[in-house]
Amino acid sequence: MSNDKAGEGKPSKHIRLTSHPGQQGSNGSPIIHWGAGSASERGPVIGTTTNRSQRNVIGTHSGSYGVYRALAVAAGNLVKGHRADLTNTSPTDLIGPHPQWCDAEKMVSIDPWGASVADVFSDHIAQGYDVRPTIAVTKAHIDLPEIHHALTFHRLIPDNRIFLENGSAVVTKVAIEPVWWLPGVAKRFNVSESDLRRNLFEETGGMYPELVTRSDLEVFLPPIGGQTLYIFGNPKDLANPEVTLTARVHDECNGSDVFGSDICTCRPYLTHAIEECIRGAQQGGVGLIAYSRKEGRALGEVTKFLVYNARKRQLGGDSADKYFLRTECVAGVQDMRFQELMPDVLHWLGVQKIHRLVSMSNDKYNAIVGSGIDVGTRVKIPDELVPADAQVEIEAKIAAGYYTDGAVPDETSLASTKGRDLDG
Ligand SMILES: [Zn+2]
Repeated sequence: MSNDKAGEGKPSKHIRLTSHPGQQGSNGSPIIHWGAGSASERGPVIGTTTNRSQRNVIGTHSGSYGVYRALAVAAGNLVKGHRADLTNTSPTDLIGPHPQWCDAEKMVSIDPWGASVADVFSDHIAQGYDVRPTIAVTKAHIDLPEIHHALTFHRLIPDNRIFLENGSAVVTKVAIEPVWWLPGVAKRFNVSESDLRRNLFEETGGMYPELVTRSDLEVFLPPIGGQTLYIFGNPKDLANPEVTLTARVHDECNGSDVFGSDICTCRPYLTHAIEECIRGAQQGGVGLIAYSRKEGRALGEVTKFLVYNARKRQLGGDSADKYFLRTECVAGVQDMRFQELMPDVLHWLGVQKIHRLVSMSNDKYNAIVGSGIDVGTRVKIPDELVPADAQVEIEAKIAAGYYTDGAVPDETSLASTKGRDLDG
């Protein structure tokens, strides 16, 4: 297998169609020119299963939910070939276009035109092409006990604009499905496109043969969860480096985020970030929570719970010095979140500077700064918000390079930082 990098020397078996904007592929589907200067030059992403001759990508829309769609068709609940009626579904707020949208280096895992397909690809839709949105933008109020607490204790004062008298906050929220341009993803990970394609094919159990048989198809709709954004204040301000941006990029942790499990700092850090975002927006800035579906460091929740047991049953009990080791024993790696693709969503929003980054993760910080976005202050989780049983996690992470303005624990300190027993 060759070791060439995407974008440099291509392996000879990768035959590239050189074509002009608007030109059609061998089966009549529009060709995608990733990174082109406009939507019409770029071409629509068509992942329909209704009309296979229109398809110009590998995979289908809505990632893993395609399996539920198959069940619904099999069970007779969904008519095969249903076309979405997109009446009144257009975004509540327009995002972009931003210069980053036309830079094949800046964005490789999101279709920048994914929210506005009904508008920018109206001609294709009128011609009968099944072009579907991969991004949806709407408005909501969010209501969280921790934010009520902030109201009760006067940490936040209602303004009837961003933060209401009843303790809820006004947000714009955005759902984003992943759309991977494989040459760019390969380059981001410094691997050859052919190696990436072969591993995607093999590790999904051969689910997508086109990964290895159709090198002319460069775009993949992967069967993974996407991202959700919660924006506080005017979304247009996200692209203005003069407006103070408070942001957290958060990776899913169902146990803590939803159920309040106290073994980690995920929910307290998330709700602290929401409070910071509201406060920042009230002061004339803008706030952003970017939430990625990467449960249990993208290892999945079964692996995560196995690790919890291994941590708490090991000789000497759960301790910070063995925190990463136990994960590696079960999963083979410490972490599979790979923050390399995470900054794409920031570039989609036009972000140039994050004034206050509510994260201690060195991986996230390095990915953001490495992608060309300035970061001002890093905001750590307040000590009083760290649950007792989560001291193991936070101390281990700080020792491994997470940002802190306090002391970095040494080996002795890590060994003496203990968590609760399983039956404790
Ligand atoms: Zn967690």
